[in-house]
Amino acid sequence: MSYSGWGRYPTVDSLLVEPSTPDDFARLISPAPDLPGKAIPRGAGRSYGDSALAENLLSTRYLDNFCGINTSEQGVTVLRCASGLSLDEVLQTIVPKGFFLPVVAGTKAVTVGGAIASDIHGKNHHREGSFCDHVDSLQLLLASGEVITCSRNNNADLFLATCGGMGLTGLILDASLRLITLPSLDIAQRSLVAANLKDSMELMTAHDDAHYSVAWIDCLARHSAQGRSILFLGEHASADSARPRSRLSSPSAKPPQRRTLSVPFNAPAALLNRYSMSAFNATYFALKKALAAESKVDYDAYFFPLERLRNWNRLYGSKGFLQYQLVIPCESAYAGISAVLERVAAAGKGSFLSVLKRFGKGNANLLSFPTEGYTLALDFKYEPSLFPLLDELDAIVLDHGGRLYLAKDARMSAEFFRKTYPNWERFLEIKAKVDPGGQFSSLQSRRLGLG
Ligand SMILES: Cc1cc2nc3c(=O)[nH]c(=O)nc-3n(C[C@H](O)[C@H](O)[C@H](O)COP(=O)(O)OP(=O)(O)OC[C@H]3O[C@@H](n4cnc5c(N)ncnc54)[C@H](O)[C@@H]3O)c2cc1C
Repeated sequence: MSYSGWGRYPTVDSLLVEPSTPDDFARLISPAPDLPGKAIPRGAGRSYGDSALAENLLSTRYLDNFCGINTSEQGVTVLRCASGLSLDEVLQTIVPKGFFLPVVAGTKAVTVGGAIASDIHGKNHHREGSFCDHVDSLQLLLASGEVITCSRNNNADLFLATCGGMGLTGLILDASLRLITLPSLDIAQRSLVAANLKDSMELMTAHDDAHYSVAWIDCLARHSAQGRSILFLGEHASADSARPRSRLSSPSAKPPQRRTLSVPFNAPAALLNRYSMSAFNATYFALKKALAAESKVDYDAYFFPLERLRNWNRLYGSKGFLQYQLVIPCESAYAGISAVLERVAAAGKGSFLSVLKRFGKGNANLLSFPTEGYTLALDFKYEPSLFPLLDELDAIVLDHGGRLYLAKDARMSAEFFRKTYPNWERFLEIKAKVDPGGQFSSLQSRRLGLG
């Protein structure tokens, strides 16, 4: 059958297997594997490119049990759960108990395993770091069939290679995740208008104390309006200030479930052109500018705004789209992002939803994406003429000391990867020890020279 990531590019024929126990997984991958060819773990398939694509896909769909939730004497609450659970399923379980995940992505469909393997970041990286900074330990199934526990104190090298390691060290079976307490279901949201890129960055820095912060940016505005944006700040609303129905003590309080609409078919690609995108961006900016204010929204609407429109990836047409997410360190971020926006606007190939966020310090995980600076994510519909443009953007990113996010990538070169991820050799040394035959391998890892 044909499989792809969320961007629907590339698409390949693969065999998907869905074992339900660690032993069944072990039988499939251990020496004399039952699966001829390479295999890669696959969670919800919400990575955009080819990181969860290979000849054989090891689906974690049935690794879906909750093992326990414990609060220590120091007051730290830890949830242990299987890697195939989605963040949505985790939230449905922990929110009624008054807990929340310290870091969530822009979609709750991702699995715990996928969140660890990409070391995902949220709107609060500047305050809380990334997902794996809150993972205490994990159980990893190696290519040998052995299951080992990794943490910062136990098989630490393997832990640092697995967190952000894109499924290449083994299959994460379960993980222990630290939780935060949730005062209410509401987020107190404030939106601010920034006239251009400099303003957007200064506003973000000035509001560094905000718990959550993310800007939607008009990637097609040019000249003095280049980089104009709406900055959305958020705090968990206290129990007292939350709307009555959002108080956890209220009998009607339960995790918000919003009605969803679905995009029923692929949009004609011709609808997406420089004029329709410019018009969308300008209208969205004007609308949000007019409405800029303070409000209370439930956490679902704040964190997962796109979830209301199921299959929105079809809006980019049947050939799919690519997301280009870069990070550039603070000192060169303005120059680098400005150059990227200039090139994108000149090419007239912008996206509907472009997002700018500020990252805090990176962590020690060998292939984690975040590093202190600014990150910009742009969507582009697939078309052959896109690739030379992305090569040009790569050159700008490289010149400004940045890199691209592996979870969004479908086309970066091995040379670019090696120049921008300084720990790749250390990663390969660790991988060679635990997977000498290169059993765990994706289309992406082969393209990047990661085995
Ligand atoms: C709408 C949308 C918004 C997003 N927003 C954000 C965001 O705000 N921040 C962010 O960081 N990311 C974001 N992402 C990207 C997404 O969080 C990551 O790609 C995540 O890894 C997807 O998880 P998944 O379960 O779908 O994994 P898949 O896409 O199935 O796999 C991704 C990688 O994880 C590996 N993997 C999966 N499960 C396991 C396992 N059990 N053991 C070992 N390896 C495993 C795979 O081999 C692959 O390399 C977004 C994606 C979408 C579609």
